[in-house]
Amino acid sequence: MAVRLQFLTQHPDEIALAMRYWAMDEEGAFLERVAELVPFRDVIQSGQIARQVREYCLAFDENQCCYLCDGPIRVSGRADAKKIFQKSSFPCESCEDELRRQKAEKQALEQAEISKRLAYKNERNASATLCYGELSDEAVILLLALDALLGQKLASGTFTISDCDDLSPIGGKLFIDRLLQEGVLLDDPIAAKPGTYFIKEGELWWYISGIQYFLPPDADLGRGPAALRHLEEHVFTDSEALTDLWLDYALADVMRYFDDQCDVYQHELEDDAVEKVRAILRHALRTYSIAELWSLVWMAIKHAASVANMRYFNRAKAAASIPNKIRQLVEQADKKEGIKHSWNRPDHHVAGSLGMVFLSLFGIDENVPGKAVIEMFGRMGRQAEATGSQHMQSLAQSFLQCALEAPDSWKAIGLLAEKIRSGMATDEAILEFLLEQKRAEIPVS
Ligand SMILES: [Zn+2]
Repeated sequence: MAVRLQFLTQHPDEIALAMRYWAMDEEGAFLERVAELVPFRDVIQSGQIARQVREYCLAFDENQCCYLCDGPIRVSGRADAKKIFQKSSFPCESCEDELRRQKAEKQALEQAEISKRLAYKNERNASATLCYGELSDEAVILLLALDALLGQKLASGTFTISDCDDLSPIGGKLFIDRLLQEGVLLDDPIAAKPGTYFIKEGELWWYISGIQYFLPPDADLGRGPAALRHLEEHVFTDSEALTDLWLDYALADVMRYFDDQCDVYQHELEDDAVEKVRAILRHALRTYSIAELWSLVWMAIKHAASVANMRYFNRAKAAASIPNKIRQLVEQADKKEGIKHSWNRPDHHVAGSLGMVFLSLFGIDENVPGKAVIEMFGRMGRQAEATGSQHMQSLAQSFLQCALEAPDSWKAIGLLAEKIRSGMATDEAILEFLLEQKRAEIPVS
């Protein structure tokens, strides 16, 4: 017998049944069919015999050895027994226990490492503060849009990426990433769904869907709706950043329509073709409105659908022609009289809370030509510069006047020079100089 039995019973009938079940000739063929072993007591179905035999003995197949330790391999029924000697493809029971123990140990070590890193992350993030008054133009617009979308969750709680789905027509990730890069949003590992963070090749990784983000408090005002209201007083001056954010938003709005239409006409574009389309449209958004580009995109996609069935053409070729068609239509519009049509916003395609913030702050939406948007942001930047230079001019005049009127003008110039040498900006140095002069004028009582 190539199967060694270790009995768990002393009852002769039960031992006899196990021996008959496993009895085989030298070539490994079983001597009796299982059907011949029934009835045995109340077992009348042959299918139940193997289970009965397993209760009476452990069976080790001598034609197999563990691939790890060469030890015996336990088999549970006739189908598992081999006719020719071979190494098993799975470990023996004791090796399996050992592997399980090693795996549990590794998991425990990993868990300890994750906990250690998250404790550090938590300590760092929980104590972080921002100065809401010094946030960039881009951050303020995005936070106002998140405020409209999330309310209390932004002001004093935490939120997930899926909470931000209606931030823009293509969801929130693109814009949330910008806030994360600026350090305006942080993640709260304590609030995250269990299993969100894991270790891979020694590094801490995470599943974005499980992350809980939060807005750190203002250093003076803390967290809450009252602190957020201060964002509404922000003065926008960075025309380049405003243009860049608008173009990203507008491109998202056009690409959402583009993706939906490709889906309707079953065009599948390669990644580099989509990249090409994005580049052409982002540039075109400097001139045309979102709604005009919707109509242009529709023409290109419709054209591809109509040529797909033509001779020498197929769907893949037709889809690949879309980027060039879009470029051609934009060039035609540039040379002639622009884009003739503009589409209305499709019903199921929202502008998102970011779109609504652009509308309420600057009065721009899908119908405003890109050229007008960029000119407006340019004007805002120039105005801010002019206000800045007026401010500098009056500072300079105040300093000069003060220095001329001082009993020792030479000393006054020396004091200012000293401040600048110590690392202060010129306007800062003048402001401090003027403040010191004012204090010196107040008589000590
Ligand atoms: Zn083994």
